[in-house]
Amino acid sequence: ARGELSTVHGEVSAVRDEPSTIHGERSTDYCTLHTRTTRLAHALRARGVRRGDRVAYLGPNHPSYLETLFGAGVLGAVFVPLNIRLAGPEIAYQLADSGAKALVYGPAHAGLVAGLPGSTDVRTYLEVGAEYEEALVSAAQDPIDEPVGADDTCIIMYTSGTTGRPKGAMLTHGNVTWNALNVLVDHDLITDERALVSAPLFHTAGLNMLTLPVLLKGGTCVLVESFDPDTTFDLIERHRITFMFGVPTMFDQISRHPRWPAADLSSLRILTCGGSPVPTPLIDAYQERGLTFLQGYGMTEAAPGTLFLDAEHAVTKAGSAGVPHFFSDVRVVRPDLAPVQTGETGEVMVRGPHVMSGYWGLPEETAASFADGWFRSGDAARVDEDGYVYIVDRMKDMIISGGENVYPAEIEDLLLTHPDIVECAVIGVPDDKWGEVPRAVVVPREGTSPDPDEILASLAGRLAKYKIPKSVVIADELPRTASGKLLKSRVRKRFGNNS
Ligand code: AMP
Ligand code: MG
Repeated sequence: ARGELSTVHGEVSAVRDEPSTIHGERSTDYCTLHTRTTRLAHALRARGVRRGDRVAYLGPNHPSYLETLFGAGVLGAVFVPLNIRLAGPEIAYQLADSGAKALVYGPAHAGLVAGLPGSTDVRTYLEVGAEYEEALVSAAQDPIDEPVGADDTCIIMYTSGTTGRPKGAMLTHGNVTWNALNVLVDHDLITDERALVSAPLFHTAGLNMLTLPVLLKGGTCVLVESFDPDTTFDLIERHRITFMFGVPTMFDQISRHPRWPAADLSSLRILTCGGSPVPTPLIDAYQERGLTFLQGYGMTEAAPGTLFLDAEHAVTKAGSAGVPHFFSDVRVVRPDLAPVQTGETGEVMVRGPHVMSGYWGLPEETAASFADGWFRSGDAARVDEDGYVYIVDRMKDMIISGGENVYPAEIEDLLLTHPDIVECAVIGVPDDKWGEVPRAVVVPREGTSPDPDEILASLAGRLAKYKIPKSVVIADELPRTASGKLLKSRVRKRFGNNS
């Protein structure tokens, strides 16, 4: 039997003996995934979901995530994955902004969902478990013949920005498919790949760099609800995992674990590390075991694969994010958009069939993020004489903490609602475990002396935990230009020491 999954039509039309997913003790073959997807599509349609409507999903990695993605896809509806680490008000914002009509959620989030404001457009709530299963059982199973094409929107994935409010990147079925093809070609995926999916599916990498390419080839995805190094060793050995994706923090925890020396890792063929720079000592630790990282650079807006560094060059080109994927164009340019010379620093621009159609409901932001048809990454890089790209800095004000992006503006906006804070700046400081963590530098209102713990407590429940600063520094003033513009680089220099 052959395995085939067409993301273009959001349709799983495969009959393959291998499981499509394994989750705990439950293994789902391709035929069952297809049937359940069709039934869910009928169930959503019966509840009023139509072509173009948004269907949100809130939950950890689980087969129902993929059923909802594909089920929405066959209807021509748009899938909106939500980050489970976000606080209630942040989830409510994304539901309202996307105008989602239906929300499928995991049982652990029932409390959060019950507390959501009634002002969103959500009319259908489906809790994974008995309620979800009941909806499938009572739904029809005949094929759905809604025409869905490559230019139809498949996913709206939220990504934060320098302006504070998250923006929904619209990825078409074509974007997602071309990205999957890039992974198949450049990572040499085979038919019998067995992937360990412990990176969250609500982020682009876990979904698009790992899960969808593997399903497209007819392989097996082992879905893990939350990353834990001990379980990782169990699953690698038990399922003979061939393909893993992670951020550096994950791979670091694995190599520092007591089971690392004795674990049987002989099945591993492809280890992809991405989302932030990969420290050289980490590369070395894996190299000593004969394990080589493929490295990736990308962004939600590019679905996300943009640059990759193959295993062969992991050492000779250490520090580089690599070369463009097969179906991708990358340029590093000067402010006037002319390409830089070898060694000169400029901004990374990307163009290709995997680049988003735009930000949902934000035509001006969309226009501003493209120049001459090229998407502006906001990352600074240089290119060596062989064409390898080195990311050297972020032009945008962003912190990467354990693989989660943190945009200071979002935190600063909330800090300024504190009655005793008149000015503030959030910066990233180095951290052994997370790479970077946020730190708040605040200027108190005259005559007040706010307590750092109380300031942090005031953010609880309003922001995801990973965005809440790990430390607060009280300052008399912040460095500014004559025109009053905050000098973030000076703030970092003056207040960024770990002492
Ligand atoms: P996101 O919006 O979550 O998709 O994050 C995309 C951003 O993460 C990029 O624009 C970069 O700033 C950063 N990033 C991703 N991969 C890498 C990498 N390999 N090296 C350095 N920065 C990276
Ligand atoms: Mg982004």
